[in-house]
Amino acid sequence: MEEEIYCIGCGAEIQTKNPKEIGFTPPSALEKGLENGEVYCQRCFRLRHYNEIQDVSLTDDDFLHLLNELGKTDALIVNVVDIFDFNGSLIPGLHRFIGDNPVLLVGNKVDILPKSLKKNRLTQWMRERAHEEGLRPVEVLLTSARKAHQMQELLDKIEEYREGRDVYVVGVTNVGKSTLINQIIKQTAGVQDLITTSQFPGTTLDKIEIPLDDGHFLIDTPGIIHRHQMAHYLGKKDLKIIAPHKEIKPKTYQLNSGQTLFLGGLARFDFIQGERSAFVAYVSNDLMIHRTKLEKADAFYQKHIGGLLQPPRPDEVAEFPELVRFEFSIKEKTDIVFAGLGWVTISKPAVIAGWAPKGVDVLIRKALI
Ligand code: GDP
Repeated sequence: MEEEIYCIGCGAEIQTKNPKEIGFTPPSALEKGLENGEVYCQRCFRLRHYNEIQDVSLTDDDFLHLLNELGKTDALIVNVVDIFDFNGSLIPGLHRFIGDNPVLLVGNKVDILPKSLKKNRLTQWMRERAHEEGLRPVEVLLTSARKAHQMQELLDKIEEYREGRDVYVVGVTNVGKSTLINQIIKQTAGVQDLITTSQFPGTTLDKIEIPLDDGHFLIDTPGIIHRHQMAHYLGKKDLKIIAPHKEIKPKTYQLNSGQTLFLGGLARFDFIQGERSAFVAYVSNDLMIHRTKLEKADAFYQKHIGGLLQPPRPDEVAEFPELVRFEFSIKEKTDIVFAGLGWVTISKPAVIAGWAPKGVDVLIRKALI
């Protein structure tokens, strides 16, 4: 049997198979490390040498464990969500785990929403949606970790609400938590000393601690992968197309009932019943949208998936999951959300259907914009 090796930085068990999970070390680095008697996981290595946090993900069990531990601490919880995939980045039941600890809700990636959007409308909307989930944040903030926007404001708010306590930063993967932490690290010194990480009892879970000036810490915790996102069905190149990098330009369509929109070959929107009105699509600018007649939509999809309707690419079509249909009856201004891909806003009463690859969530919510 192989001997277990642990990272001297964070204590995670070293593994060489899965770069996205904790304890990963490339085999060559492991060999070198063993020669020197100093084995670091890649995450700690990068933190030591490049002052850079890498994101890692956890199993469901470890994540639950982490949440349970949070309830036992006396700390400020900073919950980072992706404003573009708000529903997909909430942590189900977070409020039940954290006990009486205050939560600062941070909506990241605000740079990709249209600039015309009023910020307090957006934070108000986030607050309402959080309340629906039982979460009562002490404050809602908007940031862009990529553009380093609102970082000082975030740090000020953290200082204000932590009241001399530790700070735990939590979030599902891909919300930009690592990017955000990296920005925070840039503003703090002495990173070599950061890897004083301790483990949550009973797990291999490492946490990275950034010292604050009163002996307390800002603690980065690994995220959990949300499986109901489009991202799991696409290759790297396709992900580049669907993840917006710049401010989204909303696309407006005047539709009659009996018309269909295809969002590439990844999702489909049917306008089944209702009076002619405007429908606005909020998806990556690089994703092509095609309009067709509802009655011809099935045949159109079969014929053009992987061609006119991309992604998926031609060589991915065979493996691509079939689209599954969800029907909704809409009364007020509503978004139909395709998890991780974007949404379409419906402004008048209508019967509609949304289609997404099997396993990807389609849901409706009060309109964001
Ligand atoms: P983590 O899994 O939560 O740690 O997320 P990462 O920090 O690895 O970021 C996930 C993806 O989102 C990467 O492609 C980042 O470049 C991107 N990202 C992170 N922050 C922002 C942001 O503020 N705006 C935009 N547009 N993208 C971001």
